[in-house]
Amino acid sequence: MTVITNHMPTAELQALDAAHHMHPFTANGELSQKGARIITRADGVHLTDSEGNRILDAMAGLWCVNIGYGRDELAEVAARQMRELPYYNTFFQTTHVPAIALAAKIAELAPGDLNNVFFAGSGSEANDTNIRMVRHYWALKGKPAKTVIISRKNAYHGSSVGSGSLGGMSGMHAQGGLPIPDIHHINQPHWWSEGGDMPPEDFGLQRARELEEAILEFGEDRIAAFIAEPVQGAGGVIVPPDSYWPEIQRICDKYEILLIADEVICGFGRTGNWFGSETLNIRPDIMTIAKGLSSGYAPIGGSIVSDEVASVIAGDEFNHGYTYSGHPVAAAVALENLRIMEEENILGHVRDVAAPYLKEKWEALADHPLVGEARIAGMMGSIALTPNKETRAVFAAEAGTVGYICRERCFANNLVMRHVGDRMIISPPLVITPAEIDVMIERASKSLDECYAELKKQDLLHSA
Ligand SMILES: *Cc1c(COP(=O)(O)O)cnc(C)c1O
Repeated sequence: MTVITNHMPTAELQALDAAHHMHPFTANGELSQKGARIITRADGVHLTDSEGNRILDAMAGLWCVNIGYGRDELAEVAARQMRELPYYNTFFQTTHVPAIALAAKIAELAPGDLNNVFFAGSGSEANDTNIRMVRHYWALKGKPAKTVIISRKNAYHGSSVGSGSLGGMSGMHAQGGLPIPDIHHINQPHWWSEGGDMPPEDFGLQRARELEEAILEFGEDRIAAFIAEPVQGAGGVIVPPDSYWPEIQRICDKYEILLIADEVICGFGRTGNWFGSETLNIRPDIMTIAKGLSSGYAPIGGSIVSDEVASVIAGDEFNHGYTYSGHPVAAAVALENLRIMEEENILGHVRDVAAPYLKEKWEALADHPLVGEARIAGMMGSIALTPNKETRAVFAAEAGTVGYICRERCFANNLVMRHVGDRMIISPPLVITPAEIDVMIERASKSLDECYAELKKQDLLHSA
């Protein structure tokens, strides 16, 4: 067999990739014509591709490389742990030091009585755990009819059968028989697209009250939980109006239901606190975590569970778990990641340096003729591309056409900025410096200019 290395010509690697590798969330037929971009190494906030381009990664991989690429400490810890104890499970009354230490550390960082951690290998798995845990919780409390979980349209909670059902992505529901029964989706607090003539704060209240309407419609005795991301990520970095979360919290407090905050993106510093729930003043019973927990250096996720819920679950055998729940190498890497975050005061860097600087620069992009709103929450931001700012119009071209053109300009300018439909989003490593933010904004502006010119050329600057 040939040895496949970084030094093979790009075209050969692309051909092998096209022949054997099925990519997630990709039209693989189309990609195999074009050839995938091949990333060979990374350091700090930069990726290097197989052609030697140095690309600023304004997405931190998939929202996860919070401490930046190339941290040797994490490699050292992984190697040490692999030599000492590469694997053992946490089933059958057994445990090991990395799982113990990481659970204790997470309990220390999490607010309130969120003191208990159930480990998973990813955010999707953790949300699958949550579905089973909240339903089992109510069954143990003698209320087995409380099975309905309320979520939101355009939410992202993962891609497995359970978590994809919790999510509210219509494109995902259209494939593979989703959603599973007893998942109900209310509307999202997306003022720019759906707020019409309402003031944003009134709209936020109205969308929050859909939760109360759904609870009353099903009956409180049928509802197990409400799940939401503090700030929607994959849906387009949708920062809710300020009125939204206090009203959601009031409703969750009034009725006997559990609140699950999906912190997979917002957790571990993205919004300037350890958890987005702290930034938005939310008091969840369960938090979903993954991504930034290990800065993406190893696959690990989990559910942080309140003392109340954990004590009820402890009353019976919970017939659930993953071979890699609390995997020692992943747990050791996550623990080292959290150590670095604390020792280097990365939250302080976000709060005092990076987030205020980014906010000023990002919001200034709203002056560009293509940009309607520019929203930011800590270190996650979005801009809405529009042919008409005053009317918040959408493009006549199919949704995503313009966003895709903009994203391709970004790549050409050595910037990774993602598009969700015609919204451009960023979520850079938390360690990004003001000088690097300047470069990122400069490349984003240049890409917007080029996108604008391209839209004129292709006659796409029309409202639907
Ligand atoms: C990415 C994501 C998930 C799924 O995590 P995976 O590790 O990809 O399974 C769940 N919830 C949110 C909010 C996410 O952004």
